[in-house]
Amino acid sequence: MELLLSLQDISYAYHNLKGETPALSHISFEVSQGEFLAIVGPSGCGKSTLLSIIAGLLAPEKGSLFYRGQYVSDCGLRDVMKVGYMLQRDHLFEWRTIYKNVLLGLELNHALTGENIDYVLKLLKDYDLYAFRDKKPSELSGGMRQRAALIRTMAIRPDLFLLDEPFSALDSQTRLNVSADIAQIIRGTNKTAILITHDLSEAVTLADRVLVLSKRPACVKCEMPIHFDTDRSDPLAVRNSAKYRLYFNQLWEVLTNEQTAVPTN
Ligand code: ADP
Repeated sequence: MELLLSLQDISYAYHNLKGETPALSHISFEVSQGEFLAIVGPSGCGKSTLLSIIAGLLAPEKGSLFYRGQYVSDCGLRDVMKVGYMLQRDHLFEWRTIYKNVLLGLELNHALTGENIDYVLKLLKDYDLYAFRDKKPSELSGGMRQRAALIRTMAIRPDLFLLDEPFSALDSQTRLNVSADIAQIIRGTNKTAILITHDLSEAVTLADRVLVLSKRPACVKCEMPIHFDTDRSDPLAVRNSAKYRLYFNQLWEVLTNEQTAVPTN
């Protein structure tokens, strides 16, 4: 697979009047075009900080980010590629219909062309929300709202999806199905995704590779490629497979054992 992103020796600390909070320590890893990478780690270890650096919302204090081998300045990836961000809360606006909500990204980018609107209508049909386009967000289920948030993100045709715990507000059953659906959609369009999650099961079920971070300040403890013979679109079949249990147990061991230091690659 073609190399898309390369993070080299990234460190970051928050500074305030009370002092310094080191969040990231010498983080290095690569992401290939079309890959679905999950990043797991204990709560508060620095996962969102890492995603913010990749998105260009924060500049790393030390280290560098490369896009297809080219150094990316502090302004971040948004200058060189289209980045779509999906967050824990869906941030749909209650006073707008679903249709108006999913057009928001295009509106803000002054890109409400006929072609783009047709694309959004197709996405609404493909993801079973067309019949609900005139409803308000509160009239939809949690899973439907999350699909609407995905369509709003997809409307700008991002090359890279940054997913910051986007499924954590959903109940566990909906979460399983919606996360598998959304991963399939991203995979089906050969987009690249980086998913932050504290849920190991989710990481193993969805990702091509899992990166385990240590507690704060986060460093990379292990990288594990994930391969299933089972159809990835069926999350239950994946979770019932012997391989799933193997991956889960290995990752659990690394995550919970502070002494474990598995060399990357
Ligand atoms: P995670 O996403 O893994 O839960 P975060 O990246 O949100 O972790 O935060 C990492 C650490 O940095 C946490 O201990 C958090 O309290 C601290 N932190 C996050 N944002 C700030 C900030 N703006 N100022 C000071 N400390 C912060």
